[in-house]
Amino acid sequence: MSWYSKIYVAVREYRAKHRNGGWILTRCLNILLLTQLFFLWMTLYFYINVTVGYYVQSPVQATIYLIICSFLFVMSMWSLAKTLFTRVGRVPERYRPSKELEDRLKAVTPFENNRYVVEKSTAEQLKQQNIILEEMCTFCKVVVAECDQVGRLKYCYECGHLKPDRTRHCSSCGKCSIKYDHHCPWINMCVTHANYKYFLLYVIYTSLLVYWYLLTSLEGAVRYFIIQKWKEDLWKILYYLFSFVAGGVFGYYPLGELLIFHYQLIALNETTVEQTKPAVLRFDNAADYNMGKWNNFRSVFGWGLWMWPIESNEQDGLHFDIRYVNTQQRNRFVRVEEEQSSTPPSCESSTS
Ligand SMILES: [Zn+2]
Ligand SMILES: [Zn+2]
Repeated sequence: MSWYSKIYVAVREYRAKHRNGGWILTRCLNILLLTQLFFLWMTLYFYINVTVGYYVQSPVQATIYLIICSFLFVMSMWSLAKTLFTRVGRVPERYRPSKELEDRLKAVTPFENNRYVVEKSTAEQLKQQNIILEEMCTFCKVVVAECDQVGRLKYCYECGHLKPDRTRHCSSCGKCSIKYDHHCPWINMCVTHANYKYFLLYVIYTSLLVYWYLLTSLEGAVRYFIIQKWKEDLWKILYYLFSFVAGGVFGYYPLGELLIFHYQLIALNETTVEQTKPAVLRFDNAADYNMGKWNNFRSVFGWGLWMWPIESNEQDGLHFDIRYVNTQQRNRFVRVEEEQSSTPPSCESSTS
C-alpha cells in the first residue's frame, strides 16, 4: 500500500467514527489539487500582466503569446474538469453473485486479521474456490479472461463481486474500478477507464502550458536587465525567479515524467498497476493486451476527437482485445467462452 493510500484509509476509518470531523478531513485530501490550481491561475495572471502586458514590446507578438497561452490554459482546465466530473468506472451489479455462492467461497478461503488471505489457501481450497468462481461466472452470465497468479478467476472479497478484466481494487477509495490505472493524489481520485483520456490530456496541455510559459518568459527576464529599473521592477524579477524554479520543477516532475511514463504504457497497452503486476490471461501465460502501437493509442484516445476532452472511447471498460501468442490455447478459450456465455458474443466477448 502506498503512503497516500495509508492516509486515505486512515481518513476513511476516522470518518466512520467521526462524521463531521471526517467530512472536513476528506475535503482536505484536495490540498494537492487546490495547490496546483492556485499556481496555474497565478501563473496565468502574472503572465498576462508582466510578460505579455509589460515586457513584450510588439503588439503582434503579445497577441500571439496570448492566444497560444489562452488556448493551452482553456484546454488544460477543460480536461481537468472532465477528469474530475466524469464518474469513476465501477463494476456493474451483474458481476455480483448470489449470497449463497459468496458464502460458499468465503467458507473455503482462509481468514486472518480481518481479511481473506487467498495466498494462504491449500491446494484443495484453491480447487474448491475455482469451482465456485466458475459457478459464479455462470450465475452472473459473464465471461472473464484474467486470472490471478495461481490460475484462479478474480474475485474481490471486499466489494463482493467478480472482477472484470483489468479491474483492480483501489485501496485509497476502498472500491473496485474498471480498467484501473492508479489513484492520483494530485487530483484526489481514481484514474480509470472512464477518465484516463481526460487525465492524460490534462497532463499534456498543462505540460505544454508550463513549457510555453517558461520559454516565452525568458524574454521578460532578459528585458529586466536591459531596462534597468532595478528597484521599481524588483518584484517582477523575484516573481520570475520563483516561477522559473517552480515551473521547472513542476514541468519536470510530475508532468514531464508522467508524460514519458504514460507514453510507454499506452504503447504497450498497459496500465500503471499492470506494469508492476502484469495481467495473467487464462490458457495462455504469454498473452497480453498489446494490439500494436496504433491500436493501443486509438483504444485510449479514439479517432478524430483525440485532442479534445470529449468522449471518444470505443471500449466498454469490461472487455478488451487480447493478443494470444499460442493460437491453440486461444481457440480453447473461445470455446469455453462460447459454452459459458448465453449473451451475444459481440457484447460479452473478450477476444479479438
Ligand atoms: Zn473491490
Ligand atoms: Zn481510488
